[in-house]
Amino acid sequence: MAGADTPGDDRGAEASRLWANLRDVRSRIEAAARSAGRDPAELTLVAVSKTWPAADVVALHALGVTHFAENREQEAAPKVAEVQARLGSTTGEGRPGTERPIWHYVGQLQRNKANAVARWADWVQCVDRPELVTSLARAAAAAGRELTVCLQVSLDTPAAGLRRVGDSGARGRGGAAPADIPRLADLVAAAGGLRLAGVMAVAPRGEPPRPAFARLREVAESLRTIYPPAHVISAGMSGDLEAAVAEGATHLRIGTALFGERLPVP
Ligand SMILES: *Cc1c(COP(=O)(O)O)cnc(C)c1O
Repeated sequence: MAGADTPGDDRGAEASRLWANLRDVRSRIEAAARSAGRDPAELTLVAVSKTWPAADVVALHALGVTHFAENREQEAAPKVAEVQARLGSTTGEGRPGTERPIWHYVGQLQRNKANAVARWADWVQCVDRPELVTSLARAAAAAGRELTVCLQVSLDTPAAGLRRVGDSGARGRGGAAPADIPRLADLVAAAGGLRLAGVMAVAPRGEPPRPAFARLREVAESLRTIYPPAHVISAGMSGDLEAAVAEGATHLRIGTALFGERLPVP
């Protein structure tokens, strides 16, 4: 045991902190699954690593986490490259624990970032308008990759929407109205290079999450009547994962509970 102030020991402390957080998150997910009468194996943990360094991603990956999410292209691209360089040739050999990380984009996406995102993202979870489908399809073709897509649903109630009339920037959480989802799904299904996985949403502020996630579940169920393989429901964050699991979530996007409180982004 070397001196406590070496960088290696800092890394060790960070790794055991992540390990303890992961253990707690996994037991929350298992408890939520049990009380919803669901199999925890149906639930995929997506670690939202935004603002946290590549070293933390590598540490969680070593603990068995394979899905990671980012919300800013300019932060994500170098991080993904660094993670890949650190993992080197030990990943992707098909042995348990050696799967390469799967990267999700979960932020607001401008069309002019589609090409850049398509170079590193495996999933894009925030598709909420027709122009974005077109841009992503083109970007997937240019990158020679297939992108897995979730349609982002706005769970704002009509009343909340009315309060926001004339305040276009305030629909900050993004998402298409539930009524627009079938048309977006048709566009994704018709586009080359995109695989329609399901729906994604963020619970609206200022109301209990469970009824909002129940609305998401209805949207997901009606989507599956048209596109049966689109089974993904990406919902639930650190503060509301239990409500999301109770309403059928398949993918939980967890940041704070795994990594800690984020410092404000400048
Ligand atoms: C940051 C973020 C999360 C994770 O939120 P936490 O509360 O930190 O768990 C999930 N989804 C999206 C879209 C995010 O931007």
